[in-house]
Amino acid sequence: MVSSGTIKKRIIQYGADICGVAPAARFVYAPKGFHPCDIYPNCKSVIVFASHFPLSTLQAKTNAPYTLVRNKMVDKLDGISFCVSGELETENIVSVPVPSAEPYDYWDTGRNHGRGILSLKHAGVLAGLGVLGKNTLLINERFGNMIWLGAILVPVDLEPDPIASYEGCISGCTLCMDSCPQHALDGTTIDQKLCRERSISYNHGGGWVLSCNVCRKVCPYHKGLLKKRRKKTSVKA
Ligand code: SF4
Ligand code: SF4
Repeated sequence: MVSSGTIKKRIIQYGADICGVAPAARFVYAPKGFHPCDIYPNCKSVIVFASHFPLSTLQAKTNAPYTLVRNKMVDKLDGISFCVSGELETENIVSVPVPSAEPYDYWDTGRNHGRGILSLKHAGVLAGLGVLGKNTLLINERFGNMIWLGAILVPVDLEPDPIASYEGCISGCTLCMDSCPQHALDGTTIDQKLCRERSISYNHGGGWVLSCNVCRKVCPYHKGLLKKRRKKTSVKA
């Protein structure tokens, strides 16, 4: 039987930086319709992984490079899911890849609100990859909030990872909430309608650009908790 360590090693070899395992039983607070077993009824374990997002993109005066890298990150994480789930299937293990971003089924036109088939940020918390900040981004100890996530669902009881025990947000910090030009953050959730009005722009010639990432960028922990705590910054952003 395949082990947690073997699958993680394979995922890291494909280019992920971190990987954790959450038992499906941990998803007790998942909204109805968005539990791993709502996607794949025999799911026993959710394998969650992430790659770090290059910090240099935050130094550009335009968000086009950030958008390019975001799109490449989606391709990369989906590619890892595609390859690893395909390999597991050849070993007779059903393996359901979760899209890193789109496509997804749920869309509320009135609220301009979408929802992935599984919340990868919450899955990341349950797999021990980090904690949620008030900007609603996952903060990993090593890479901060500059990560992009993917996941695979399997019908196997893999050894789970412990949930992270470190603190995410700095005590009393509200920098991301105060800096949001749309006042879309309340410390727990994000008003997607308000955020989308500002964070996605489109023109017929140039395509779409993620035109706001302030809540990610202003966070003192966007480079990782460890780097901030050690006051080491080899790359300024
Ligand atoms: S991306 Fe911009 S508009 Fe959206 S929540 Fe973050 S700071 Fe606010
Ligand atoms: S800016 Fe402050 S409040 Fe917002 S996520 Fe970062 S540490 Fe938390």
